[in-house]
Amino acid sequence: MQMSEARFEHVLGVEQSAIALAKRYGCSVEKASIAALTHDYAKERSADEFRFIIENKGFDLNLLRWGNAIWHGLVGAYFVEHELGITDHDILEAIRLHTTGAPQMSLLSKIIYVADYIEPGRDFPGVEEARRLAVLDLNQAVAFETKQTLQYLIGKNVPIYPKTIETYNQWVAKHS
Ligand code: GDP
Ligand code: FE
Ligand code: FE
Ligand code: FE
Repeated sequence: MQMSEARFEHVLGVEQSAIALAKRYGCSVEKASIAALTHDYAKERSADEFRFIIENKGFDLNLLRWGNAIWHGLVGAYFVEHELGITDHDILEAIRLHTTGAPQMSLLSKIIYVADYIEPGRDFPGVEEARRLAVLDLNQAVAFETKQTLQYLIGKNVPIYPKTIETYNQWVAKHS
């Protein structure tokens, strides 16, 4: 696995946070560690590599209209499975969902989604509140992160991946 020093630090930070959350919420520490260490495995792959996998390995071709931000988890899990030989479905799902979340997430997926956001190297408005919620109530932390991320993306005028909106609808939006 090759990656920049900054990304390596990030990955180790996610592992540290994920292990703490796994202990707090009764998840497998070993799975949390493996998922954290591999969640951004594909982040530095080229667009051509992702396009090849999407086109040839049965992915939804609508993914071709997106970019690395969406591909590195959702499609990146393919590289983790086939290059690292990790077959655990729970771990692969956590990698797939770590960027966008999903309406339904396993405990491990929530832990990786939140750990990626609150790891010690993160520094952005709201991260302290996210860290506070993460130890109090993991579901509230998922909701908070989802809302913050959507607001941040809207502020940048970037396209919102539909799954990100589904996550928001499930975890944040109240319906009557
Ligand atoms: P990282 O890989 O550790 O940097 O973190 P993530 O995997 O959580 O996010 C990767 C990038 O995708 C970040 O810049 C997010 O803001 C961005 N991102 C998350 N959801 C969406 C989305 O729905 N649309 C777009 N365009 N970007 C998103
Ligand atoms: Fe990521
Ligand atoms: Fe994230
Ligand atoms: Fe990450």
